[in-house]
Amino acid sequence: MEHTKTDGLPEEGLPTNAAQASEPAATGLKSLGKVECNACPVLCKISEGRTGACDRYANQDGHLIRVDPIVFLRQSVDASEQNKPVAFVQTDAQNPEGWDGDLLHANKAFVTGIGCSSTYPDYKPAPFIVSSQHEGVDTVTVVTEGIFSYCSFKIKIDTDRYLGPEQANVRCEGEVVGHVTTAEYGSQMLSLGGVHHLTGGSKKEGKVTMNMMAALGNKQAVELAIDGGSHLIIQAGQAPIVNGVPEQRMRVGCGSAAIGIFAQQFHGLVDEVVVVDDHITGVLTEHQAGRCLDMPRSGIVMRGRRSTPGRYFQVANPGIGWGGTDIADPLSIIERWDPEQAWPGLRLLMTSTTGEHASWYRLNEALQPVEEDMPADVRKIVDRIGENCEPSLVSVLFLGGAGGSLRAGVTVNPIGLTRSIKQALVNVTCGGAPAYVWPGGGITVMADVLGMPDNSFGTVPTPAIVAPIEFTMRLSDYQALGGHMDYVRSMESVLRTGCWHTDGAPQARVWQSIAPTHPWPIGQPPMLG
Ligand code: SF4
Repeated sequence: MEHTKTDGLPEEGLPTNAAQASEPAATGLKSLGKVECNACPVLCKISEGRTGACDRYANQDGHLIRVDPIVFLRQSVDASEQNKPVAFVQTDAQNPEGWDGDLLHANKAFVTGIGCSSTYPDYKPAPFIVSSQHEGVDTVTVVTEGIFSYCSFKIKIDTDRYLGPEQANVRCEGEVVGHVTTAEYGSQMLSLGGVHHLTGGSKKEGKVTMNMMAALGNKQAVELAIDGGSHLIIQAGQAPIVNGVPEQRMRVGCGSAAIGIFAQQFHGLVDEVVVVDDHITGVLTEHQAGRCLDMPRSGIVMRGRRSTPGRYFQVANPGIGWGGTDIADPLSIIERWDPEQAWPGLRLLMTSTTGEHASWYRLNEALQPVEEDMPADVRKIVDRIGENCEPSLVSVLFLGGAGGSLRAGVTVNPIGLTRSIKQALVNVTCGGAPAYVWPGGGITVMADVLGMPDNSFGTVPTPAIVAPIEFTMRLSDYQALGGHMDYVRSMESVLRTGCWHTDGAPQARVWQSIAPTHPWPIGQPPMLG
């Protein structure tokens, strides 16, 4: 099947919405050898043998099909079966014996939304509403591909390095696609994508944002530049590359925490330790940890703003030097030494929060620090700081709002789904991965893309992101919330024939293993905030 992004968009003189695509126009389309896809508002008119603008739907012999196979999950799948497409038959009657080796897995299978097709224009029941038994209980999973205009990615980058000012624009291909948000403990955070950039700017901004989001969700590398900050390459589950340098370590803690953790080990080997940190620089003899160990004050006078004893803010500007500051010379953050307290021969260790930078000094007769080789037993503690740093990684969390029209594919009474989730009756997953449900109104879910199958995300040129979502509950609870009971089909039937409709339906399924760290999605309560 030839894929193209250009074929399929509405043409001059052809109907541009479903209502207009009534009999005469539809007949006109047919005579042109085209079919209309109404799986999203773009309403592509697709020529025979071609795909629509999103590459997800195609015209095959005059029928609209969903191009990709739908992903079914099992706890474990042999390598020979993994991702091997198995074609659906059109009806149960085509397979009267009902035999298919895969049916043995009917009570061990989970249908994901990946490749399942969607419910647009919303009132249609979800393409897969699948019943199965779990530990003797009748359950149902409602499966759909959501089209999300309201969604974003929250990025956690484990590094001390300064990536850019909070609130700074983050750019991709020159377009603004997000911003730097509040840093967390040992990590810099970005908020990327979202409705503002998808729909609120230029056409190019929307397109670049959409493609960047799909790439991130599909675990691919993305290149970004932060205004007034760094150039970044980020990819889920990989080390970030900051200004061309792959990051190695996530800090053991802030400067104050590092002082507290290692104070006892330093005792007797050093007279003063400064742990340089962009946020909270720690000074051992002034810090409560040093005081508890009865260490005499060293007389060091630090630059920056003293917060509490032994804890200093703003010792330097943020940057990519020591401890996320802009300094290359650690002595530049020492104002002076108090001659009443300091003494010649005083042993001083200065280190960053990862131990990546560390220097050893002694004060001379003029109370000036002079760098010397670091003693082996002190080096051992610096190495231990490094050993306690976890590898620096990029985490990519999908955050999407499923509280809108998508619910109509589940129930005739959408508030029933929202309430049932909040009552912990419905588990929400994204491609089988656990989804955290935010508190408050709506169904705002968040999932780690690393736990989702590869290529879970798609796009439509509205522009919006396509993402899988599944709702699993007891069959009785589904009935109670106003579910589309007439469309509930057994797992056996679904394994054989696919989704309930044939217009734009997936033609085949593939098996994949659920991530070993994930709970089986059926029989689990939701992760409620
Ligand atoms: S889902 Fe894809 S093929 Fe169908 S109308 Fe939208 S863009 Fe076109």
